[in-house]
Amino acid sequence: MKRYDAVVIGGGPAGITAALYLARSDVSVAMVEKLSPGGQMLMTHLIENYPGFPDGIEGWKLADLMAAHLGHYDVDRIGDEVRAIETVDGMHRITVGGETIEATALVLCTGARYKRVGIPGEKEFAGKGVSYCALCDGNFFRGQTVAVIGGGNSALEESLYLSRLVKKLYLIHRRDDFRGQKCYQDRCSVSPVIEILRSTVVCSISGNDSVTGIEVRDVKSGDCHTIPVDGVFVFVGFEPQGDFYPEGLERDSGGFIKTDAEMRTSVAGIFAAGDIRSKSCRQVATAVGDGASAAHAAYAYISSRFSQG
Ligand SMILES: Cc1cc2nc3c(=O)[nH]c(=O)nc-3n(C[C@H](O)[C@H](O)[C@H](O)COP(=O)(O)OP(=O)(O)OC[C@H]3O[C@@H](n4cnc5c(N)ncnc54)[C@H](O)[C@@H]3O)c2cc1C
Repeated sequence: MKRYDAVVIGGGPAGITAALYLARSDVSVAMVEKLSPGGQMLMTHLIENYPGFPDGIEGWKLADLMAAHLGHYDVDRIGDEVRAIETVDGMHRITVGGETIEATALVLCTGARYKRVGIPGEKEFAGKGVSYCALCDGNFFRGQTVAVIGGGNSALEESLYLSRLVKKLYLIHRRDDFRGQKCYQDRCSVSPVIEILRSTVVCSISGNDSVTGIEVRDVKSGDCHTIPVDGVFVFVGFEPQGDFYPEGLERDSGGFIKTDAEMRTSVAGIFAAGDIRSKSCRQVATAVGDGASAAHAAYAYISSRFSQG
């Protein structure tokens, strides 16, 4: 069985940073990523709030730069999906690429994914007009009419991106106030393409072969009506990507992994960083910070195990 001092699961900004810091500490490291390195950055058109890029940077470019930086270090990159973790005699085992590998420390960086809104039509029309990624699918709706559901930063940012492609965009939020940053709210409210529908919920999505409309309800008056749209983008929050984590790992009510300030979880030798952990600000900058802290704590843990013999 192959053994590593540390295995990082997930190759988004948190995982890349954790692997880079660990490799620089001269311990043996592998990083397992089921897709391409970069995580959610690959779905982001422009990142304007990561320091060092005053004009913003496209998500894929930042992902490429981070992956290239990691390429300077001795990290085994394994392209596979981790499906289970087993802890035997204090060592953590995972099976990837058909073989079982063992690590003294695991750093969990599997991030988060968009939640489904859970309305009739959402599942049926997924990929046929219903999308969770403006950067991936926006181009299909060039010159058409779309609805965006949500009220956080992602909904606002993605509406601004889509507004450059589509003819008309309904930004639909169930509350009066948006959670997203004021600068994005201001830009959405002056866009000639975006019409904001506050205190409004989407009750269902309809269509034939693809989406043709949505039924909306004003939550104050109870009035319902149909809006013809060609596409629906859903940005209503996140859920953790970590169904396979062991039961002993403490989580919050949303399923995100609880850590202390050093990124230690409730299981000795398992650390968590980035969007997968319980916290309030899920961004590239915080993921990178978590990754560095987790690597630092994991290194201390590995060293303490060495000194115990
Ligand atoms: C549309 C959008 C716009 C955004 N805009 C911004 C922005 O402008 N500024 C900003 O700072 N942040 C932005 N964010 C948020 C930011 O991208 C995330 O906070 C950040 O990417 C989280 O990093 P992470 O490494 O924790 O997780 P992720 O980026 O989610 O990476 C997790 C990685 O783990 C991999 N993985 C998952 N499960 C497994 C498994 N079982 N086995 C192997 N690999 C696995 C995934 O494939 C993925 O590559 C945006 C996010 C989205 C979706």
